[in-house]
Amino acid sequence: MTSTNIPDAVRSVVIRQSADGKGTTAAFEEIPYSGLPDHDVLVKVAYSTLNYKDGMALTGGRIARKFPMVAGIDLAGTVVQSGSPRWKAGDKVIVNGFGLSEKHWGGYSTYQRVKSDWLVALPPSLSMANAMGIGTAGYTSMLCVMALEKAGLRPGGKPVLVTGAAGGVGSIAVALLSGLGYEVTASTGRHETHDYLKFLGAAHIIERAELTGRKPPLDSERWEAAVDCVGGETLANVLAQIKYAGCVAACGLAGGSSLHTTVLPFILRGVGLLGVDSVMAPMGLREQAWERLSKDLSLEKLEQITTVHEFGRILDMAPDILNGRIRGRVALKIGE
Ligand code: NDP
Repeated sequence: MTSTNIPDAVRSVVIRQSADGKGTTAAFEEIPYSGLPDHDVLVKVAYSTLNYKDGMALTGGRIARKFPMVAGIDLAGTVVQSGSPRWKAGDKVIVNGFGLSEKHWGGYSTYQRVKSDWLVALPPSLSMANAMGIGTAGYTSMLCVMALEKAGLRPGGKPVLVTGAAGGVGSIAVALLSGLGYEVTASTGRHETHDYLKFLGAAHIIERAELTGRKPPLDSERWEAAVDCVGGETLANVLAQIKYAGCVAACGLAGGSSLHTTVLPFILRGVGLLGVDSVMAPMGLREQAWERLSKDLSLEKLEQITTVHEFGRILDMAPDILNGRIRGRVALKIGE
């Protein structure tokens, strides 16, 4: 151990390019503390999480853009050393995105060095496990809700649709929207999640299949607005069912990244398609999202949908999120 109780080596999940240069592998490694990146804040990581993108990164998906890369797009922990006047040892902080696990070493590490500009203070009402129960997925749900509100959405009117509802982004979107007084319809492909979605506040549940397959470019107006985690055919069909002047916050591609639609929902119904990106969202928006999450998300619901797992399990769990087998959110316990 060093004089400041920082260990000589940190335990991390490292992504490396495979020998043929065509794929990647992910494995636990001990990294010398001196090998951590040269950023201005050292964080002792308490929790990270498992997002869809983490699942991709750990199973050979093209997420990391340089190697070796420490995986994990999120972290919550305590500042140990800071070269920035904005943060001091003992501060509890969160990092979401900003290229972690892509261009910068991420949160699957017992310690990590990060840029002071990436840090958000942990809201006092949330524990670190809560913050990673929320993670990028939940913070993206809040960004979606804020985007819909900015476009004029208010409670009342037709139901608000959430697609991919039993996943991480979807679960928290259902909980947030119902807590804010919206009538929520949850779309899911998993029958066994119906009670869970009702507990989160869904007033109605529809089968995923109702929104798949080729449908007319303008269908009956069913939804005031939507949070779409699925993309592809589902998003095209959702756009066709949004009411006049309604809007869709599109954040995901769990069902596909292509979008085959027509301009009709836009030019005949004035429907708005709002793109939501969490990775490079500006700091003001992040702080606002976390402030809103700490007030608008029921902690009881959050704790109910969060499963806490030990760090050592992450490689086994990664394929599950890509195969739609994770319900709700995972908080990954990295350190004490
Ligand atoms: P999850 O895997 O937890 O949830 C995705 C859900 O989508 C599944 O639970 C399932 O819901 C549904 N789904 C999965 N496969 C299909 C399919 N083939 N067709 C239709 N529905 C499907 O992932 P997350 O909630 O973490 O992420 C959701 C999406 O949002 C991902 O594409 C992710 O990449 C994206 N994302 C984007 C962000 C951004 O910044 N824009 C940030 C975070 C996530 P059900 O079982 O209820 O049907």
